[in-house]
Amino acid sequence: MTLNLNHSPEVNELVQRTDTFIRDVVIKAEEATKSVLNGAKGEAVRFELQQAAKDAGVFAPHVGVEYGGKGLDMCARAPVFEAAGYSLLGPLALNIAAPDEGNMHMLERIASEEQQEKYLKPLAAGEIRSCFAMTEPAPGAGSDPGALRTTAEKVAGGWRINGRKWFITGADGAAYAICMARTSGEPGGRGGATMFLVDADNPGMSITRHIETLDETLYGGHCEIDFSNCEVPDSAVLGEVDRGFEYAQVRLGPARMTHCMRWLGIAKRAQDIALSRVNERQVFGSRLADLGMAQKMIADNEIDIAAARALILHACWELDQEIAGTSSVSIAKTFVAEAVWRVVDNSLQLCGSLGVSGDILLSRFLREVRPFRIYDGPSETHRWAIAKRAAKAARQGGES
Ligand SMILES: Cc1cc2nc3c(=O)[nH]c(=O)nc-3n(C[C@H](O)[C@H](O)[C@H](O)COP(=O)(O)OP(=O)(O)OC[C@H]3O[C@@H](n4cnc5c(N)ncnc54)[C@H](O)[C@@H]3O)c2cc1C
Repeated sequence: MTLNLNHSPEVNELVQRTDTFIRDVVIKAEEATKSVLNGAKGEAVRFELQQAAKDAGVFAPHVGVEYGGKGLDMCARAPVFEAAGYSLLGPLALNIAAPDEGNMHMLERIASEEQQEKYLKPLAAGEIRSCFAMTEPAPGAGSDPGALRTTAEKVAGGWRINGRKWFITGADGAAYAICMARTSGEPGGRGGATMFLVDADNPGMSITRHIETLDETLYGGHCEIDFSNCEVPDSAVLGEVDRGFEYAQVRLGPARMTHCMRWLGIAKRAQDIALSRVNERQVFGSRLADLGMAQKMIADNEIDIAAARALILHACWELDQEIAGTSSVSIAKTFVAEAVWRVVDNSLQLCGSLGVSGDILLSRFLREVRPFRIYDGPSETHRWAIAKRAAKAARQGGES
């Protein structure tokens, strides 16, 4: 099977429709809300935008048709998610924002029929939100998931979870958390982890604080969560006991790529803002667009955007073909996270003082994209994995 970079006419039409929806509907809401949605008012805007996305036929395109979506594979998601990502509110409007989109992907593949009915169906419909709770404060799980310290101990009829999680995006207002807890082995020795579906009204789970961060858009904030003698029934186990690390990969590979797609949309928007500015701004008797050093930044942005798109598609193609054990997701994630930062930074530079002002969105975009070099695996963790795989392949005389 060879890699085909063309999309079907149906996908191209959906991209077009998404693009029109974002420009005509979502960008207006963006101006009114400054892209930050909080509390009941935020929930009202979310429902309104999602209803508009349903009306426009662009809602939740990634989930299966039985859940109201279009069952797009990873390659088809790439241009659609990029088009949605053109606005900070676009992914929320289409119900393809993190962490819900990644959770839907995993629930579709791993959850039982009963769990899909209770947790996936309303999530896919936008009736509820969810969160994914893996990371812990040091010395717990972070870039090294094997350091996992939250435990789940077997009790009669269920499990008792104890531990602390932090940076859990979307936790405030989520109807449930997917919590990763250790069910065998010791921290640092890998062992086994299990994923649990924990309802928000469980008295053993509480949000202890909102963490203040550089970024503001991801809905529901980034929270610290305490699991204290949190009892869940056996039916709360997602998939099989002790297979949580494996399931995390089912979620994380595609979730890393969908994050890349959405942030590539923001990079494209930043470049469009800069292009409009350099074409109108006159300095030293010429248009900024005609000056060599400005042209270098414009060209570098085009190169980064094109390369990011190609790397995403390559990794998505491998995910669709279920080709395992390659570096394509790590390569794409590392490159795109750094490329979108460069594109937004160059765009801001091209706009001068206007770029750092709150009058246009570039300074905001810069704050939003910076954490992407840390979550979904920091660049250094991915480079480490890429290098190890390349060196091993060379030792074995194969390709990485
Ligand atoms: C905005 C945001 C949202 C998040 N949302 C979620 C969420 O919803 N759910 C969730 O579970 N987690 C979430 N996270 C947590 C995120 O997944 C972790 O921050 C990430 O895995 C890194 O872990 P850590 O912060 O503990 O960093 P650490 O593990 O302490 O790593 C610190 C630094 O060490 C360096 N490093 C790591 N590995 C290597 C290596 N092999 N070689 C050399 N240097 C290395 C890197 O520079 C890294 O940044 C979020 C984080 C952020 C910032």
